[in-house]
Amino acid sequence: CGIIGYIGKKSTKDILLDSLELLEYRGYDSAGIALFPDGANEPVVNKVAGRVSRLREVCAGLTDEACAGIGHTRWATHGGVSDENAHPHQNGRVTLVHNGIIENYKELVKEYDLKDKLISETDTEVAAAVLNQLYDGDPEKALRELISLLKGTFAFAVIFADQPGKIYAVRNVSPIVVAMTEHGAMLASDVAALGVHAKEYAFLPEYQVACLSSKGIVVHDEKKHEIPLQLMTIDWDT
Ligand code: GLU
Repeated sequence: CGIIGYIGKKSTKDILLDSLELLEYRGYDSAGIALFPDGANEPVVNKVAGRVSRLREVCAGLTDEACAGIGHTRWATHGGVSDENAHPHQNGRVTLVHNGIIENYKELVKEYDLKDKLISETDTEVAAAVLNQLYDGDPEKALRELISLLKGTFAFAVIFADQPGKIYAVRNVSPIVVAMTEHGAMLASDVAALGVHAKEYAFLPEYQVACLSSKGIVVHDEKKHEIPLQLMTIDWDT
């Protein structure tokens, strides 16, 4: 029921876990993170049914040296509460977290012949597998194709294995905010999850693709034109 993403100079693991705790009030049944260790070939996923405190225990030995990370708290809609069904989901070069419901996931399983390629029971993993099939090295193009196929609500944060140091995000109905902080770029389901890190944030407009990197946050419309972020100030005192 909440997502978080971070690229920056602080411990990615700590930021993700702390932010997931700040999202706890939204209610959830499972939690997970994907960390892309510096120099690795793909993100490493750790996920558990249960509380963030349990995830924290599981992640205790993990590296702090990550070039990108995404995290998730799940409110199960498709598939029971289990470690396998927790997010992030990985398929080929795609690792992603998702809030929302993909209504036509059964049709997509048939259309893309995914029956034997899925580990979990979730609608989300189907989106990850379709995105992996669509992906030819151009993340934005693949994400646009994916969302044109999906019926339902979604907020996705995605890492591609051959794009270390980048997080892509796109949404329909389910919320995403993005923020540049003094130490890195963040995205989250809501402002509360940004913690004390951000002074300003912007809502990601529906169906636009955001790319977070160490250089900043760029949002593109359908024609790959850059859209300026409508920044709002966070007043932590009120
Ligand atoms: N539909 C997805 C699932 O059941 C995502 C649920 C959520 O928004 O947390 O895994």
